[in-house]
Amino acid sequence: MVLPPAAQGALHRASRSARRLTMAAAAVALAAALVHLWPAVPAPGNTAAGAQLVNAVATVGMVGDVVSQVGGGCVAVSTLMGPGIDPHVYRASARDARDLQAADVIFYAGLSLEGQLSEVLERLAARRPTVAVSESAIPQDRLVRTDDQYGVDPHVWMDASLWALTVDVVRDALASLAPDCAEALAERAEAYRAELEALHRWILDSVATVPAGRRLLVTAHDAFTYYGLAYGLEVHGIQGISTEAEAGLADIRAVTDLVVERQVPAIFVESSINPRNIEAVRAAVRARGTDVAIGGELFSDALGAAGTWQGTYIGMLVHNTSTIVDALGGNVLPLPAALGDWAARFQVPLPVEPAGEER
Ligand SMILES: [Zn+2]
Repeated sequence: MVLPPAAQGALHRASRSARRLTMAAAAVALAAALVHLWPAVPAPGNTAAGAQLVNAVATVGMVGDVVSQVGGGCVAVSTLMGPGIDPHVYRASARDARDLQAADVIFYAGLSLEGQLSEVLERLAARRPTVAVSESAIPQDRLVRTDDQYGVDPHVWMDASLWALTVDVVRDALASLAPDCAEALAERAEAYRAELEALHRWILDSVATVPAGRRLLVTAHDAFTYYGLAYGLEVHGIQGISTEAEAGLADIRAVTDLVVERQVPAIFVESSINPRNIEAVRAAVRARGTDVAIGGELFSDALGAAGTWQGTYIGMLVHNTSTIVDALGGNVLPLPAALGDWAARFQVPLPVEPAGEER
């Protein structure tokens, strides 16, 4: 059973916190310690039918979708941040606090993605199972280091092969809370991992159809480094890794120079970021006597609307890839047969390869 997002609190602009580094380090240590420490306890809560449901709360949609795909009928999932919400600057509402207090288990990405929630999550971690899925799942040598105060780029879901590693972390955490569900959780985890691996190969093959000189991705903020590394695109964001720092005129000018000099055909807005910086670059490019298209809207740090295909993690990457590949002059390939069930369930308007004809 999947519940709709319980709360979509207002986006609050927040000042930068000088304590970020300490908090991030503490969160890493806590999460690493916690994920395996929680003993198996009976799943609390009873449904009307008498079946036990784990009440899980996730911070962002990408995490919530893994929990609901793996959890299936054993878990009720609610997600704090809905479509268009920027996790870097998100603050917990009173309703979020109530949901978090009532949760049997809390799942978040970590690696400082949920910057303003760190303190709340740390406090809750002392009282209930709290799992930072990216921090727990992604090996240190696969993380991209940054020279800002964060130290690590948190946008790991952009590489489907990396995000697939979070599936087993979620499975183990849920199985410890609902031992009766362990077998079903293992089956669902394996099936979902297979879908993510097929997704990864489809993205690789689709991006490879973009002419070599055009494999350049310009977006509003630096959320696509893992995507570029995994799938062979050079990436440039106007803002940095986090959106807490505003872009300056120098950032706009640098990206404008790049677009003009490299004759970039399209640049992209993001669903959780104000489009003004991308529009400023386009205006500056036009002022230099040339043009660049807005290639479309990408989902960087939030899923699309609940109930739509873009409201799933797989749909986020399928949408981003088909938008990018189209705008940069490549060919969007038919979806692999392994994604056929997903495509049918959400009526995805893309062709699917017949079963048995996978590359
Ligand atoms: Zn981001």
